[in-house]
Amino acid sequence: MKYDYLVVGAGLFGATFAYEAKKKGKTCLVIDKRDHIAGNVYTKEQSGINVHVYGAHIFHTSNKSIWDYVNQFAEFNNYINSPVAVYKDELYNLPFNMNTFSKMWGIRTPQEAKDIIAKQIEDLHITEPKNLEEQALSLVGTDVYEKLIKGYTQKQWGRPCTELPAFIIRRLPLRFIYDNNYFNDRYQGIPMGGYTKIVEKMLEGVDVKLSEDFFDVKKRGKLSDGTEVSYDKILFTGQIDEYYESKFGPLEYRSVRFETEELQVENYQGNAVVNYTEYEVPYTRIIEHKHFEFGQQPTTIISKEYSSEWKPGVEPYYPVNNEKNNALYQKYADLAASEKNVIFGGRLGQYKYYDMDKVIEAALACVAEEL
Ligand code: UDP
Repeated sequence: MKYDYLVVGAGLFGATFAYEAKKKGKTCLVIDKRDHIAGNVYTKEQSGINVHVYGAHIFHTSNKSIWDYVNQFAEFNNYINSPVAVYKDELYNLPFNMNTFSKMWGIRTPQEAKDIIAKQIEDLHITEPKNLEEQALSLVGTDVYEKLIKGYTQKQWGRPCTELPAFIIRRLPLRFIYDNNYFNDRYQGIPMGGYTKIVEKMLEGVDVKLSEDFFDVKKRGKLSDGTEVSYDKILFTGQIDEYYESKFGPLEYRSVRFETEELQVENYQGNAVVNYTEYEVPYTRIIEHKHFEFGQQPTTIISKEYSSEWKPGVEPYYPVNNEKNNALYQKYADLAASEKNVIFGGRLGQYKYYDMDKVIEAALACVAEEL
């Protein structure tokens, strides 16, 4: 079998690329070492509920063309992400907004909230934030940082906030209106029927081989069923350091472990996402999947999310974009730039904390440059 592209990884990047390449008359063979398509956006139906198997995925974008693009493949519902944070026996709305401040300080007006935060920030005397802790403190003051950021962030990244880059926290908006919408984006929603259907549609008419490990295929020159394959180019969406056998040293990733269970109750926590922001609770959040699609099923499915360091054998989820890793990644990226027949894409291939819309944007840009 002869293909124009071997696409390694059937996630959003690979599927978008394959869909567009096919439209332009190119042939792709998409392989994935897992036994299913859709990468980490994979959803699986259980008891009528679409379970986000590799963690909650909420589509949001401000790019109208990307919104229109994904809407070709699915109808999106009007879900708005409004997580709730539990700290000890207190409960707060996220993102940090007037509901949060009102609960925290017993105040009512934006001016009162601004005054309290300004006073706390002033007392800290931080001129130029050097790390996530200083960045967060200088944005939100002491109370919000201590109760809603510090423990959660340390759990998620497995490092003290003083050793994390400031930019992670820029994702958290601070609002002086009573608005619990977590994202600032113009468009938001969950594809009705789950994400897997989107990727299925993208890959319609494309050759896909599952449970197929790229490194084995490369070694053998054949697929696991013995089929010989050749291709002009590779699109690799796995870990870029693994591709190069970690010759400059391994990049760090964070992994997530999910404890998923079905409960014989109709509604467990009343919200899709509840964050546990104190360090002493071992999980970072509990997802109740049915609420992403306003489910009315008689039972419910929840996932407790435990963050851990990535090691070989578990799934990588997040690149750890601190200075050390970014410098190391740059070495791999320089090597990648000199490749004529290999392209790297996606969160793992480009070692970038991409959201879904940015993955699709990057894949479309990649196709445009390639073809
Ligand atoms: N964060 C936090 N408290 C929260 C939720 C998030 O401090 O209750 C911070 C934390 O530093 C985290 C970052 O915001 O690493 C991004 O979290 P988010 O849940 O938005 O990212 P996701 O894991 O969903 O990509």
